[in-house]
This record gives sequence, structure tokens and C-alpha cells, in this order.
Amino acid sequence: MRSPSTHNRTLTDYGPIVGSDRIRNVQTLADKLSETRVLHVNSAASGGGVAELLRSVVPLFMDVGVETDWFVMDADESFFAVTKSLHNGLQGDEITLTDEMKATYRIVTERNATVVTDAYDIIVLHDPQPLGMISFLKNRYPDTTFVWRCHLDVTSPARSILEFVSDYVRRFDHVVFSRAAYGREIAVPASSVIHPAIDPLGEKNRRLDRSEANIERDRLETDGLSFDVPVVTQVSRFDPWKDQSGVIDAFRRIKTTVPNVRLVLVGGMADDDPEGVEIYDRIVAKASDDSDVHVLTNLPDTTVNFLQRRADVVVQKSLREGFGLVVSEALWKRTPVIGSNAGGISLQIADAENGYLVEPNDLETVSDRMMRLLTDESLRQQLGNHGRRTVRKQFLLPRQLADCLELFGELRDTV
Ligand code: UDP
Repeated sequence: MRSPSTHNRTLTDYGPIVGSDRIRNVQTLADKLSETRVLHVNSAASGGGVAELLRSVVPLFMDVGVETDWFVMDADESFFAVTKSLHNGLQGDEITLTDEMKATYRIVTERNATVVTDAYDIIVLHDPQPLGMISFLKNRYPDTTFVWRCHLDVTSPARSILEFVSDYVRRFDHVVFSRAAYGREIAVPASSVIHPAIDPLGEKNRRLDRSEANIERDRLETDGLSFDVPVVTQVSRFDPWKDQSGVIDAFRRIKTTVPNVRLVLVGGMADDDPEGVEIYDRIVAKASDDSDVHVLTNLPDTTVNFLQRRADVVVQKSLREGFGLVVSEALWKRTPVIGSNAGGISLQIADAENGYLVEPNDLETVSDRMMRLLTDESLRQQLGNHGRRTVRKQFLLPRQLADCLELFGELRDTV
């Protein structure tokens, strides 16, 4: 396993955004955890929401005095094919694992677990990839408190996958979900809910000054995009649950009524996601006869920041969504979001207040909401301003840090 690089911001850097009371509150919670060592393990250093979260929160844990390590698993394609099946099965695909897949999973998770040679007070394993490490780690470190942090939308998991995963989950001391409803299907020893949050000072979300914005605009215009026309965008991994194909279908319904409108689909390839290239190819093929649809991949964070800011409308048409950081990222930039009424998206969007919530397969309503927003600038502004307030109140990093510190404090005192 390896330790990815992180930034070196401090908690007080966030004071001007969230207020000094919140900063003090976080520090008070952290003071109770001095002498506590925490390890986070996940399976990708970049691409996807978990890497995004850890990159921002780990240095803040350190800054407030909680000694924290972050390790990323070493694994190859065959392992990630198994764990993507676990991911898809937990999100509802009827999938079964072969004996060979189960063996691959056990071998790779055990091999990664042997690399943990220090004792920690709390070990947090994120998502299904490192879950299997529990068997080995629990034997080696019986005094450690183990937390499974499930970031997925587990409202209707496939039975066979649920059984496989449950065998591991029951050995944990505690499970953290992103939404209360996710706890109903999986039998867990004890659980709590922590909503993820965005980093307002990260490259993806920080303010861009005019000259930076111009650079990003020029960069994208060199790729053939224009910002003199209405722009709709969705930013997400190329993944079946993100339904980029459905976004294109909804967009095509409005093209005849909104002149020159453009759709920009931005997607990254996460290190641990073997489906990315295949879905990307499918989306590029679908868009190939349509010069108004742009499919861009692996953009730098500053460019994603600019696009989320500059787009007239952001769409997140997921069929399942653990949380969906991209929704808060856009709302923070005062861009209204049309999101599916799926998983964590409904925690962030209040319909007709800061965006629109639409049933996941309802293309007609998605296009109707696109039309409404694209043809009414004051509506966009009104919803956008509301979106900024929503995120400021609920979905910024210091709040998430406080929730984690509070939980760790309780776990240390009770387990
Ligand atoms: N992201 C990115 N570039 C891309 C696609 C996604 O930087 O081309 C980022 C996105 O801005 C967000 C994260 O990856 O920070 C995705 O997190 P989210 O919770 O929305 O979805 P996940 O990928 O975890 O399912």
C-alpha cells in the first residue's frame, strides 16, 4: 500500500468561510482525541468521491492533532474487476461472484492487510475494496476499533453480494453510511450517518479570479467549446450508474427549442474502476454524430471548477448515488442542479429551491427542467444563490470533520 500526497491547509484557513465558532467547535472535539492514531484505507488515490474526500480531510485531522495515516491499496485489474462487481451488486445489479473471484478478493485484501504493521486506535476501511482486510487485521490488532465507511447507495443490494459483504461487515465495530436509509438492508453491529462534504478551498472549488477563468475558458474553447451559447454539463466518472447516455437523450429533446445549446459531459477514469474506458467509448460513439455534445476526459481540477461555475445548468442524472459530491460542488458555485431523486442527491437538492429533483428515468421532466432554467436567467440566479446557502450550511468540510471527530470520540470511549 502507498500513502498519497495531500495538501497542507490548516483548519483555521476555513475560518473566513464557516466562521470562528465552528472552527473552535472542531478544535474542541479534536482536543479530546489527542494520543489517538487513525488509519484510513481505500483503493484509489484519485478519481471519484472517496479519494476527493480523503485528500482534503486527512491533512485537517493531522492539523487538529489527530495522528492520521491514509493508505491506498495495491491491486491489479483482476481485483478491481471483482470489486466493481461488489460495487455494482451493492447498488442493485443482480450479480454473483465466482469462486475464483472470491479467492482473488481474499488473497489481495489479505496481502494488503499484512502491510499494516503499526497499531492504530481506529482503522477506517472505505467501501467494499478494502473490506476483506478486516479478517486479518482484527486478528492482528484485537484492541483496534474498526469502522467500515460505506459510501455507496445500498438501498436495494443484490442478495448474493449482500451475503458476501455481510460476512465481513459483521466483524466491524461500527459502520458509517452517507444516508440513514442505507442502513436498512445490511445487518450492522452499530451504525451512524455522516454526510460527505466538499472542500471550499480545494482546487476544484476555490474562487477563480478573472484571469484564471479566462485561461480555463481559452483552454476549453481550443477544444471546440463555446461559452457564448447556453451550456449544460454533467461531471462524473464514466460509470453505468451515472447514466451519461440518459443525459444525452434528455438533451436531444431540448435542442430544437433552445438555439445553439451545448452539452458537455466531463468524466474521469478512477484508478480502481475498470468499466470507465468501455462506458467512455460507448458515450463517445453515441455523441459522434452530434457536434453539440462534447465528451471530455481527465480535465484538471481548475478546469472542472471553471466548467461547474460557468455552466448554466449542471445535471446529475444518476440511477444510484451514494452521495454525489458533484452536486454540492456545483451548488457551491451558484449553478442550479437538476439531479435524480436517487440516494444522496435528494439530501442536497430541495426541489424548485436550489435546483430540481427528477425521478431517475423521467427524461421528459429532465428536459423540461433544462428548458425552464436555460430560458430564465433570474430563475437560475435565484436557485443558484439558494444552492450556495445550502452548501454553506450543511456540506462544507469542517462540518464533516466535526462529525468524524465526534464519532471517533464516542467510539474510543465506548467500544
Ligand atoms: N471528478 C473530477 N473529474 C471528472 C469526474 C469527476 O474531478 O472528470 C470528481 C468530481 O468533481 C467529484 C468526484 O470526482 O469531486 C466524484 O465524486 P462523487 O461523489 O460525485 O461521485 P463518485 O465518483 O464518488 O461516485
